[in-house]
Parts: sequence; structure tokens; C-alpha cells
Amino acid sequence: MKFTSTRGGETASLDDALLSGIAGDGGLFIPESLPRFGIDEFDSAASIVEVARVLLTPFFDQSTLAPELDGILSETFCFPIPLVELPVVAGRAHLLELFHGPTAAFKDVGAGFLASCLGRLQKSADKPLTILVATSGDTGGAVAAAFDGRTGIRVVVLFPEGRVSARQARQLTCWGGNVLALAVQGSFDDCQALVKAVLADKSLNKRYRFTSANSINIGRLLPQCTYYAHSSLARYRETGRMPSYIVPTGNLGNALALMLTRQMGLPIGEVVLATNANRVIPDFLRDGRWAPGPSIPTLASAMDVGDPSNMERLRVSFGEAVELRGMMRAVSVSDEQIEQQIREDYSRYGFATCPHTATASVVYRQMDDHERRAQDWIVVATAHPAKFEQTVEPLIGGPVPLPESLRAILERPSRYHSIAPDLGAFEGMLHHGFHLDVATAAGDK
Ligand SMILES: *Cc1c(COP(=O)(O)O)cnc(C)c1O
Repeated sequence: MKFTSTRGGETASLDDALLSGIAGDGGLFIPESLPRFGIDEFDSAASIVEVARVLLTPFFDQSTLAPELDGILSETFCFPIPLVELPVVAGRAHLLELFHGPTAAFKDVGAGFLASCLGRLQKSADKPLTILVATSGDTGGAVAAAFDGRTGIRVVVLFPEGRVSARQARQLTCWGGNVLALAVQGSFDDCQALVKAVLADKSLNKRYRFTSANSINIGRLLPQCTYYAHSSLARYRETGRMPSYIVPTGNLGNALALMLTRQMGLPIGEVVLATNANRVIPDFLRDGRWAPGPSIPTLASAMDVGDPSNMERLRVSFGEAVELRGMMRAVSVSDEQIEQQIREDYSRYGFATCPHTATASVVYRQMDDHERRAQDWIVVATAHPAKFEQTVEPLIGGPVPLPESLRAILERPSRYHSIAPDLGAFEGMLHHGFHLDVATAAGDK
């Protein structure tokens, strides 16, 4: 399979699309054509790895990674992604829990898959690959965890100093080895600008091979289709109805994966996007005007996106507002509604929700009984509430127990360097910042 740029005719193989992240013309890679499946093609696929193998095999056609797909998939889906029934009065609803991975957020799936693919592609390369990630919190931790200890690959995580939560900071700075954490003296935008400056710098690119692991990389998007395929098949087999989904949405990667999965023929009903106060997507669907702007800070901070980059993929693949209106809905949720929902989910139903998942929960609870009964609903849970304990614990009046994986991470020592947001400071760190062990350093001349 070939991948084409959203901005023109440039095409790339899967391997090149994974390695470069972004197309040379500044566009994002999308599959040249989507495979279409009949539901019976999944008849003998029960586990998530088996579903992933059927679903993703066409994308690996002609890739050098094709013979290694099984290994990639069992590495990626090494933690459970369960559907948990919600206690509801009308109809039936489930929570799709995407937060049982190493850093307790759904980004572990995309980061794990990308790391498995790049780790294998890198085996035959003579120069180490340096992966840059600017992060406002969640992405950097997932990427660092996924690439931790991989030979021939180094990761530089750039985060705004003093502007991430204490637990997020630990998840960014606890790695060492082939992962370098840089606290940039500035904002998230400064981190992102620095990454762009590095990727564009000719002299640095002569000496190093860089790529970026943020959600523009197609390797983050493809594996996310798997849990939608697997969960929709499970519900369809049980009820004969196509489940509908409510997805907490920021940069639109997770929701786009859902749209692609339905397009490939999987039994998916309605697609409903829940955004926080950053309402550029709901406004676009309503008015037909695309008006990106600066992001607004909210309690669901991993969804604070004023200019979702995957919109470009969505419009090229599915059309403009007129067409999109017939395929999806989007609802914006305020911080007050998020707080109210976290309190109510806990007091009435006995479970704690993270602020992101709460946006989808608000949209579900806002429906009337008729609408809830009309569909088999799946509310997508994107992070574990213990990741956002500073918001959640005061609202529920008690502690949220830490999942084991998160506890292990939080107990590790923290190590990072603070730098000014400029190329000179960054380059110095590339030379002197890594604390590499012998095995990694040997491949790193
Ligand atoms: C990144 C993130 C989101 C938003 O996902 P997109 O793919 O960017 O729309 C939602 N919830 C959590 C917890 C996240 O980390």
C-alpha cells in the first residue's frame, strides 16, 4: 500500500511514511485507498491481536515490516482494552477503557505501535534515529515509555518548564538512558517551535537523523483503528446492532481512527465527538467555516487544541462540513459540566472518571432516554483518573488508587535538563545530555 500527502501528489511507502512523520510538502500522509472488509472476514478473529492482523495486513502490503506484523501487534496490544458495562437506567452502555497501558492513557497504543515499527526499521540503519516530541503532558510520557531502551533510537522530550502537573513531569523525566528530558524555559508553543526549528535546520540534519512522534505520524493513527474494530465486532456479535461511540476529542486522531474504521466496513453506528471549551470542530460542523485559533486552557488539558492537525486528514478523506454533518456530530462541554459529571459519576455510579473521559460522559448523560435506548452506546475512556488526581480527588472527596504501571513509573528517580528555547542550547544537549548505557552508545558514534 502507498500513502499520499493531504496536500498533493507526493506518495510514500509505509516504511518511509513512518520514518519521516510528515510529507515533504508539509501535508499529512493518508492511505491511498482504504481496504473494505465484510464482517465475516473477522469470523475467526476473537482476540484484539487477531482482529488487528486482519485489519492492518493490507496496510503492510509491500512493507519490509510485513513479515514482522505478528511481533509488532503482540508488542503493541500487550495490555487489556476492555469494554466495561456502565450502570445506566435506559438502554445499555459500555465504557471502552483505553487506559491500561504503561502511562495510563490511550496514546500508549499509538506510541507502542510506532516504537515497535521504528525499532525494526532502525535495525538495518547505520545512523541512530533521534525522535523529537514536544509535549504539553500526555504524549511525551507515552512516547518515552514506548521507546525506552530501544537500541539505535534516541528520544528527546521537550516540555514547558513548570507548566505540566507533578505526575506528568515524573512520567516525562524518569527514563534516562536513550531518553533525554528537556524542560524548556517557555510555553508549549516554544517547545513546538523549537522542534520545528530543529527539523528545518540544514546543518543539524546533516549530522543527525530526526523524526517526530506526535500524532501527525500515520503510525500513531493506524493501530487506533484496532480497538474500534474489536469492540464494535464484540457488541455486534452479542446484539446484532451496530454500536455508536462518543469520543473525547482534541487533535482529532482518535476520532479520525473511528471514522476510518467505519469506512472500512466495521459495524459502527453513530460517531459523536465530545470536545472541551475548544470548540473549533463543533463550530465548523455548524457554520461550515474553519476558524482555528489559539487554544483555551481547560480541565481536560490533553484536549486543549485550537487548531487540530488531523482536520486536514478528515476533510481530504471525508469532505467538507456539508458532507461531514451527515457522518458525525460534535458537542462542546464546559469545565463546569466536566466537574459536575465527575462528581455525579462518582456519587451515583461509584466510579471515578478522568476530565477527558468526563466530556464524553456529559454528552451521553445529556441525551434523553429515547436516544439512549435507540442505540447501543460506547463511551470512550481515554485516560485513567489517577493521572489527573489534582482535578479528580477534590471533586470526589477522596483518593484515586494508582494503577500498578503508573506507580512503578512514579517511583523512579527524575532526571532532566533545563534549557533556553533556542537551537544552540538544544544542540549542546544533543552532544552532552544523554546518559547512554554501553549497548546504546556503541551504535551511536
Ligand atoms: C490526547 C488525548 C485526548 C485527545 O485525543 P486526540 O486524538 O488528540 O483527539 C483525549 N484524552 C486524553 C486523555 C488524551 O491524552
